Amino acid sequence: MASSIKKIGVMTSGGDAPGMNAAIRSVVRTCAFHNIKCMGIYRGYQGLIEGDLEEMDARSVRNIINRGGTILKSARSQDFRTKEGRKKAHETLVANEVDALVVIGGDGSFTGGMVFNEEFGYPVIGIPGTIDNDIFGTKSTLGYDTALNTAVEAIDRIRDTASSHDRLFFIEVMGRDAGHIALNVGVGAGAEEILIPEEDMGLDRLLESLKTSRVSGKTSSIVVVAEGDKIGKNVFQLAEYVEENMPGYDIRVSVLGHMQRGGTPSCADRVLASRMGVKAVETLLEGKSNFMVGINNDELSLTPLDRAVKGKSEIDKELIRVSEIMSI
Ligand code: ATP
Repeated sequence: MASSIKKIGVMTSGGDAPGMNAAIRSVVRTCAFHNIKCMGIYRGYQGLIEGDLEEMDARSVRNIINRGGTILKSARSQDFRTKEGRKKAHETLVANEVDALVVIGGDGSFTGGMVFNEEFGYPVIGIPGTIDNDIFGTKSTLGYDTALNTAVEAIDRIRDTASSHDRLFFIEVMGRDAGHIALNVGVGAGAEEILIPEEDMGLDRLLESLKTSRVSGKTSSIVVVAEGDKIGKNVFQLAEYVEENMPGYDIRVSVLGHMQRGGTPSCADRVLASRMGVKAVETLLEGKSNFMVGINNDELSLTPLDRAVKGKSEIDKELIRVSEIMSI
């Protein structure tokens, strides 16, 4: 593969996600495979501005495929939002003779990459790494599968105690803008109700549904709530409201929080990260840039970064119906 690109930089940016290390490993090793150099950039765009980077070779990324988090660290950089900051970042890349960037992160990180590309004509490719799965142009983002498994396992444990004490549990899972985690985890963990930002079921229907399930003989229930649910109350207020309107029910709240972000990446995330890393590097070597690598129908795809950023990832309506049928 003859290309003018001789050195590629790789970084992780925004919220960390399991599988990011496997993606870094893949990018570094694909560079080595094609006999080009690779620079690891620490702390995302902030590290780029501050010149915090070092050369990595195939051996620098040993024993990381199984590790959560990111060995390159991640950061949110206010400085990169300024023209001056981006100029410094560009100077770092020029000084280190880095010809192109692979950015592993969410839509904010891709927006940053796009702005950078517009300003300096600099080649950038994105790999979607975020547990929320809220990115257009890919069926799955890195870390999503792991987060689902982590959350389901946690809810399984809560179910044990819920059923022993005849309790109603409200469990908040991550997902500020998208209900992918809540919906899939809710179906996978057998939740009674699933509240997601995309659908406002309303408090009355929630109460109605919980009352119906009690009448139908259920003595314990689990309601999965996405943190960005639009019902207008947070998970604690929601629990309080139900408690006031359904006396006699023993209600508890559990917020799974950051534990959903950590942990050993699932096999699916490791494989996806390995595939996306190869695709990202080889796309740059083919002279293409300003794309995000995605996966659709088990085939890797390229989506222009602006479409990935502006598009809306749709919730699976069929799953909503499945969850309604399952909670009869
Ligand atoms: P997550 O989905 O986990 O939030 P993210 O990539 O969306 O990940 P952000 O904090 O939104 O996380 O963005 C990461 C970084 O990208 C920001 O800290 C900033 O440095 C850069 N960035 C985001 N938007 C812009 C922008 N409009 N212009 C320049 N840089 C930006």
